[in-house]
Order: sequence, then C-alpha cells, then structure tokens
Amino acid sequence: MSEDILGSLLSRRSAIKAAGIGALAFAVGGAGGGAGAATQEKTPPAQEGASGVYELPPLPYGFNALAPAIDETTLQTHYEKHHAAYVKGLNEALRKLEMARNSKDFAQVRALSRDLAFNGSGHVLHTLYWNSIRQGGSAEPQGALRTTLDRDFGSFDAFKAQFIAAAVQVEASGWGVLAWEPMGKRLMVLQAERHEDLTIWGATPLMVCDVWEHAYYLQYKNRRDEYVNNFWKIIDWQAAAKRFEAVAATPAETRKAAK
Ligand code: FE
Repeated sequence: MSEDILGSLLSRRSAIKAAGIGALAFAVGGAGGGAGAATQEKTPPAQEGASGVYELPPLPYGFNALAPAIDETTLQTHYEKHHAAYVKGLNEALRKLEMARNSKDFAQVRALSRDLAFNGSGHVLHTLYWNSIRQGGSAEPQGALRTTLDRDFGSFDAFKAQFIAAAVQVEASGWGVLAWEPMGKRLMVLQAERHEDLTIWGATPLMVCDVWEHAYYLQYKNRRDEYVNNFWKIIDWQAAAKRFEAVAATPAETRKAAK
C-alpha cells in the first residue's frame, strides 16, 4: 500500500484533514501527499453516513508476507479481528457521543470519551504497525533519522537495546514506540500501555511494536522477547525515515532553539 493511500485511509477523510487532525495521518503515512489540497479547506464537509467515517485500511502485503517473524494465522487474526474491532469501536464511540449531544444527556460522557481515546489510539497505532514492518525487513536507517538516533541515544545499538527492552517490559498490554517529541526536538522511546497511556502530548509515533498478546501469542505463546527480537528484523526503516523527515525536517539545527 502506498503511503498516500495509508494517509488517506488513516484519516477521517477530508473532514479530519480539514480539522487539522490530518497532521497525524500525514505523519503516520509518511512524506506522501495525503495532507495536500484538503488541508486548505476551511469548513469540514459533512460526515459520510451512519456507518461511520473510519475504515479498516487494506494491509500493504499478504497475510503470509511476514513469516516466519509473524505467521499467517497471527497476522490475519490480528488484522481482521483486533484492528477491525478498534475501527468499529471508534465509529461507535463517535456515534454515541453524537447521540449524547442531540439528547443533551452526557451521563455516559466519561466512558464514551475513554472509548474514543482507546479505540482511536488503537486504530492509529495498528495502522502504523502494519507500515512499520515489511517482508524481509530492511537495512538499518541512514540519513537524518540515523544521525538523530545516534545523537539522541548515543548509538544505533544503544537505541536498539532500549527499544527492545521497553517493548518487552511493557506492563500487560501495550506498545514499544519510537517517537519524535517536537518541543525538545528529539527522538524518544516510549512505552504505551493499552493504546493511549504513558504517551506525551504532541509526540509523533514513527515506528511501533505491538506487544499485546494478540500480536504474538498464537505463534510465540508467552515468549514476548522472542517475538520482539524477530519483529526487529522486519522493521521498514525506509518508511520510518520518511515519517521522520515529514515531522522533523531539520532536527539538528532546531535543537538548540528549543532548550
Ligand atoms: Fe494489536
């Protein structure tokens, strides 16, 4: 799947782009043109129907493409059952919130807001997860991403050690995340619990490793460390580099000004 397609599918189409939230889709989708002309719109168009406006994006490869790191059954179940459920939950939360506004009954707003963040973050991270990895993996990153990884972690090997440790040690269900933090102009490794806890506002995820049991248990049982180490071998660093360059054009030059 091209990054343009990812960007358009991840976003709530033109409505979400016009609302400014398209910046996230753009960052996840990479340097593609997904945030082009639509961002110039002043007024979001109407929503596109009662079934909801978020859609499960097509996988960029076949169900067996990532074996042996991730086998066919694990990948298909993860995508068709779990990712799809987050998309459905996100649309459902939005529908119920609309009903609450129409009825002026906000008794459930706390639970619905929680559902919105949980399912919305789940959809964003899974979409990025599928595009963080590729058949056969790739060479280590070069260029600006590599330079900045070296700067912010000391070395690529030190970054690798921290990322794998963070992913393996996420408590219960969550994610290992390589993110760009724009205020400090630096890369960070974050853990996300569930999909939305322990994040930093404004940080943009660039590459993510799903460590919910549904991502690996069918194949690896409780051997999360083995899964994470095999995940590492199929990371698509070229895609991560494009996402990085889209959100941090000149990180080294702007770092001093942010202090
Ligand atoms: Fe998952």
